[in-house]
Amino acid sequence: MKIETKINNISSHAKERKVKISDNSLQDRVSLGSGKDITASYYPQDPSVTEPILTKISGNNITPGPDNERIDTDGDVKPKGDGNFIYSPEEAEFINVHLFVTADKTIKTAEKSLGKKIPWSFGREKIIIHPDKGVMANAFYNKKDGTLNFFHFKNKKTGEIIHTGKSFETGSHETNHALLDGMKPKFIGWNIETEALHEAFSDIRTMLACFREDKNCELFLKETGGNFRKENLISSIGEQFGQNAMGKPFIRSAINSYTYSNPYLLPQMQQEDELTGEAHVFGQLFLGAVYDIMDKVFHQYISEGMGQKEALMKMSDLCDKLLLKGIELCPPSEATYKDLAKGMVKADQLEEKGKYKHILKDVFEKRWILFEDKDNLQELRGSKFINPSSRESICDFIYRNRELTGISEDIPLKIEKAEKNKDGSNLIDLTFTQEVTLSGNDYGIFDGAIVEITGGVNIMSDSNGEVCSLSSRYIDRDNMENTKNRLKNLIKEGRIKFIDPSVKKLEEKDLFDINGRPYAGYTVYEDGKMKLVPSTVIQ
Ligand SMILES: [Zn+2]
Repeated sequence: MKIETKINNISSHAKERKVKISDNSLQDRVSLGSGKDITASYYPQDPSVTEPILTKISGNNITPGPDNERIDTDGDVKPKGDGNFIYSPEEAEFINVHLFVTADKTIKTAEKSLGKKIPWSFGREKIIIHPDKGVMANAFYNKKDGTLNFFHFKNKKTGEIIHTGKSFETGSHETNHALLDGMKPKFIGWNIETEALHEAFSDIRTMLACFREDKNCELFLKETGGNFRKENLISSIGEQFGQNAMGKPFIRSAINSYTYSNPYLLPQMQQEDELTGEAHVFGQLFLGAVYDIMDKVFHQYISEGMGQKEALMKMSDLCDKLLLKGIELCPPSEATYKDLAKGMVKADQLEEKGKYKHILKDVFEKRWILFEDKDNLQELRGSKFINPSSRESICDFIYRNRELTGISEDIPLKIEKAEKNKDGSNLIDLTFTQEVTLSGNDYGIFDGAIVEITGGVNIMSDSNGEVCSLSSRYIDRDNMENTKNRLKNLIKEGRIKFIDPSVKKLEEKDLFDINGRPYAGYTVYEDGKMKLVPSTVIQ
């Protein structure tokens, strides 16, 4: 979410199309822990475009909160007498149930697409959801304590109280930040493009999740007739927040024609109808590209004789799989749009025999994201085989191919992740860290502080140990200069928080400035040396 306080002309456009949905047919009598499905109520999209609907959630491991094996919702909401979590938005319990359902669906669909569990980056089994933490026009994921945080605020014109936790789009977006952080913990760093990639990922998966809900598909088809170019409830993101906090009909849109340019060379603020380097704005470029892919895949399915609703759902499953598997094949840090585009092309080749290659290439070329058609595996030196359980074998392979990876023997590598997939293939993320000292007057009170940049390699090998994908990020002069320039700008804008060495414990409020905007980073001290670390708060 993006914080804004300006309120002016509020568009009523989204309100006009709000459609009432009544579906009370799912009234089972079940009890907690029975293992049977439980019925729950939630907003399947944004509260300003749909009424709440009923959905089924797995009764396995559900305890009051609602909680399950991956989610710990703040509070103690229990089902009603009939054993179901059916609450109306006016009831205090609703927000807990809505957010639980939203997070649960977001997590389960990701794990289904990937075919495995996605661990959290913060080392616990459960993510904590704070459904209404107080007054702020905001919502965020905090990696530090493994929480999803939602707030409420008043529309100063209408007096209406808006809960950011009541929108499926907001809840799913924040949950997706946590999932991506679980998959690639080093994506949270200083790189502008990787930060934008986090935003794009979270928005794309939220849109795809919307297409998995029958009612949303019905509304989408009613609004567009299947024409993705027509503005609709799914392409528009954050309608209620946009109308009540920003005076806009929505906060972001997937319908755009942005083409790639270096985000470090763009202005860094949020502007209207113009691409900037600000993460949520720049994120719309990749969001728009994947929306174009969704459009083309949908129409391919229609041309194959599929019905519209079935085509939407099947398209959602496919795009989610390509996106998540594409992420897996990105370098473990400093990933760019090009890395993810290549990862998605590779995922299509490995999973779908290249059936969607023409669509992916066409869109990514039009967006100036990816041009080359060359597979770097043709340049590998020596044997293409590794023993995925041997550190020596993996490192030897990387060093032997230093012309490709940029990584030589004198760079010590850390195994960040080594996973065996069900089909016997292996995924390995290796990282290394480079320290950069910020020196000069441009850094003000932070002159002499150090920052870390992480580089690394991702390798995928098939069930025989043959390397089938390789992507790497070597830290070169460009990365270092970009990082330094970015920090200069952040310092100038007051977005780096100086924490006095005597402060023992950082409070969450310390991570926000007086306008409620999260700092981009703050100081810590290691061996008496000042170090700047990126904020753990992602909106
Ligand atoms: Zn975000």
